[in-house]
Amino acid sequence: MEKQSDTSLFTVLSHERRGLREEVICYRCGSQAEKATAYRCSLCGGPLIVSYDTYFDVSKIRWSLHSMWRYINFLPPSLSKPVSLGEGLTPITKIYDRQIYVKHEYMNPTGSFKDRGSSTLISRLRGLVGGVVCDSSGNAGASIAAYSAYAGLGCVIYSTSSGARNKMAQIAAYGSSLKIVEGGREQAMSEAVQASDGMGYHYAGHAWSPYFIEGVRTIAYEIGEQFSWSLPDRIYIPTSAGTLLLGIILGLKTLRSSGLLDKFPEIIAVQPKAISPLYNRYKNVGETSYTASIADALSHTNPPRLEQMVRELKIVGGDVVVVSDEEIRRAQRELAFSGIYVEPSAAVGYAAIRRELDEIIASDVRVLTLATGTGLKTADKTE
Ligand SMILES: [Zn+2]
Repeated sequence: MEKQSDTSLFTVLSHERRGLREEVICYRCGSQAEKATAYRCSLCGGPLIVSYDTYFDVSKIRWSLHSMWRYINFLPPSLSKPVSLGEGLTPITKIYDRQIYVKHEYMNPTGSFKDRGSSTLISRLRGLVGGVVCDSSGNAGASIAAYSAYAGLGCVIYSTSSGARNKMAQIAAYGSSLKIVEGGREQAMSEAVQASDGMGYHYAGHAWSPYFIEGVRTIAYEIGEQFSWSLPDRIYIPTSAGTLLLGIILGLKTLRSSGLLDKFPEIIAVQPKAISPLYNRYKNVGETSYTASIADALSHTNPPRLEQMVRELKIVGGDVVVVSDEEIRRAQRELAFSGIYVEPSAAVGYAAIRRELDEIIASDVRVLTLATGTGLKTADKTE
């Protein structure tokens, strides 16, 4: 199929921010990356972040844009030509007549929150690279594949044999090349990096790429807007590679430094007990071996941003909890019975909330979780 001309698809926004400071730097050693497309520090191997001056000014929200790009004035200035499929602005529903809120992140274009990060990442890479290679358990792969297709970039996705069948079908449907690796997530990543070197494509793993997290920040901005800047007391975040956790923390920090929050929400990262590297590091649990979890999207045993997650969580005084597969199943079922159909990985936040229901009701605290992926992604596995 003929690739579409970019001028018909991508509108240039926010001219006035061009030329503002923006650097890609190492989170660990602080050195500056030589290329905007770098995905890890060439000196110490650490993960990279995008550093730029930002101040959240409500009057600068682009209200006419009905996507997460209404926050373009608070994103890195280089992102002036968005590759957008209309991601973001997902609704929030209160459930069970209690102070429990669910943000429907599965209502993004490919059925998961990953679209926010793919939109900013592919916006940054378009015009700089001919194609991308990414490793994924499924959702990020489907998302990167969709945005690559829209931007006219080649795309190769590496996944594992344990990946959900529907997710693999979705990745292939976007026209990307799907490679199945025997072994875990780390093996898929290693093969994806090698393949990108060999074929001249850019490695765009979502767990590493600094511009991916930038899109996820917009979740915090939206929650702020949807709650009229009086945020819930606690936010429960399904956590694996950490892009969701870090994106929300970064966004909230920007809101706080801009004087918009009277109180910073308590951040609770939630992991499946079967694969819980952040919990183990945060709580100083010794070496643990991991098994598979029903939450197939939360499969990182050694996420590259682990140190960053621990540090940022400590800075904001957050916590980490783990939930069993049985609790995840029950949470998934209960959410469906209240009209919210999610995949197991998207139910872990609610699984943690259920444990504290009595306390939540008694204290009248407001809690929120993210329903990160649609139940259709794993419908073939639903028991
Ligand atoms: Zn470094």
